[in-house]
Amino acid sequence: MTIQLKAVDGGTVQLPTETMQAFMAGFRGTAIGPDDAEYEAGRKVWNAMIDRRPGVILRCTGTADVVAALRFVRQYNVLFSVRGGAHNIAGLAVCEGGVVIDLGPMKGVWVDAKGRMARAQAGCTLGDVDRETQVHGLAAVLGFVSATGIAGLTVGGGFGYLTRRHGWTCDTLLSMEVVTAEAKVLRASASENPDLFWALRGGSGNFGIVTSFEYRLFPVGPDILGGAIAWRAEDSKEVLDFLREFATRTPLDTTVVAVLRLAPPAPWLPPEIHGKPIVAVFVCHSGSIEEGNLIVAPLRACGQPVADILTRRPYAQMQTLLDATQPKGRRYYWKSHYLPGIDANAVDVLIDHAAKLPSPHSAIVLFQIDGALNEMPADHSPAGNRDAGFVLNVTGSWENAADDARATQWVRACFEAMRPFSTGGTYINFLTEEEGKDRIEAAYGKSNLARLAALKKKYDPDNLFRHTKNIAG
Ligand SMILES: Cc1cc2nc3c(=O)[nH]c(=O)nc-3n(C[C@H](O)[C@H](O)[C@H](O)COP(=O)(O)OP(=O)(O)OC[C@H]3O[C@@H](n4cnc5c(N)ncnc54)[C@H](O)[C@@H]3O)c2cc1C
Repeated sequence: MTIQLKAVDGGTVQLPTETMQAFMAGFRGTAIGPDDAEYEAGRKVWNAMIDRRPGVILRCTGTADVVAALRFVRQYNVLFSVRGGAHNIAGLAVCEGGVVIDLGPMKGVWVDAKGRMARAQAGCTLGDVDRETQVHGLAAVLGFVSATGIAGLTVGGGFGYLTRRHGWTCDTLLSMEVVTAEAKVLRASASENPDLFWALRGGSGNFGIVTSFEYRLFPVGPDILGGAIAWRAEDSKEVLDFLREFATRTPLDTTVVAVLRLAPPAPWLPPEIHGKPIVAVFVCHSGSIEEGNLIVAPLRACGQPVADILTRRPYAQMQTLLDATQPKGRRYYWKSHYLPGIDANAVDVLIDHAAKLPSPHSAIVLFQIDGALNEMPADHSPAGNRDAGFVLNVTGSWENAADDARATQWVRACFEAMRPFSTGGTYINFLTEEEGKDRIEAAYGKSNLARLAALKKKYDPDNLFRHTKNIAG
């Protein structure tokens, strides 16, 4: 095939069939162009607000393909993006007119149960890793929605139900295999290329293409106490006021996630509540189930719940409970703050904005993350934000482009109203397309960002990895 690609300098590069044939001779994966049947599916990402048409998608089968793909983009000086699970809200996985280096086929997971570690290739989703580790009653610190890619999540920080116990996902990394800007394959760990290891633990896609991650694993389940309780919105004040105190006294193996939204038509919610405003609290207690039941008893006694599915269940199932709320292909717009805790006045602000939801799928979400991450020094990894207790994510989610303005305005208004309660920090992986330098600085803090910028000059002086939340210059 002949392909046309966007060059880094903004020009266009035409590559004739012979050039592509020569490249494909050294590439084991597939190349998908605009005329191929798989192109439409291949270019689409989770967020339907992103509608980019790359020149070619290179689906890599392993590290050697990633090296070949990177040599290719370097040789022709063309724009490229790196695709893991394609869940990034800003659509960083796909670039307009350039090359997508797609790691999707790289899905190997190897568990060393005795050594309590797992090595996972960069095309894995969270679900792929949980599935293999839970066979051994072990788990890595991963996020809340199973279709999310491990790669983008881990290099941006990562948090989930185990974060209170063990910190950011990237804090639990043992090593990574990475293809650098020079297309060299390096191992990064505390003892090998430690500065690169530091940068990759939160520095997002700026430092290379990680081909596999080695995670520390922790005993979890396989059964845990988990699920959710839901109340009508009328109980929001009582529930959130209770939760702000409750969350400060629970042990680190208990994590809550509060969601303010309209009740979806989910089987666990009674039909008469569907479409009505609710507050739901998801709980994962990864310690003993008996102890967990005692811990959650006061939460259960709060207000008048309309549904309660908090029960003994497999941890792997817990990891999928929020999946249905975040399907691929809707229009999404998020804005996020880290909060030190839930301030009493913030409760009123949240309830006020939850009363004006712009669509049935939009929600205000509070994820509890305090604990282990607060104990580590500020520069332990660039993910930083060691003063954060909760992640607030204001999540606009809707179906029709006609609703774009209304939904995004609601998100922005709630985000602005919550600014006084923020630590000032934010999560790099929740930044949308338009958020730039000031928000990148908020995600890392001045000092970690300065160190990242210096390492960027060392490992990627030409800013090859620019289709990222870019920290160069
Ligand atoms: C529904 C949903 C739920 C989420 N839940 C959580 C959560 O619970 N916890 C949490 O921490 N985050 C969560 N996130 C945010 C998530 O961490 C980011 O969206 C992340 O970018 C997803 O990774 P991905 O591999 O799917 O990203 P992609 O969109 O594939 O890639 C995004 C960017 O990550 C970088 N990248 C990807 N692969 C590599 C690689 N192999 N090497 C180097 N850089 C790479 C590149 O810059 C790339 O452009 C969620 C996102 C969504 C959409």
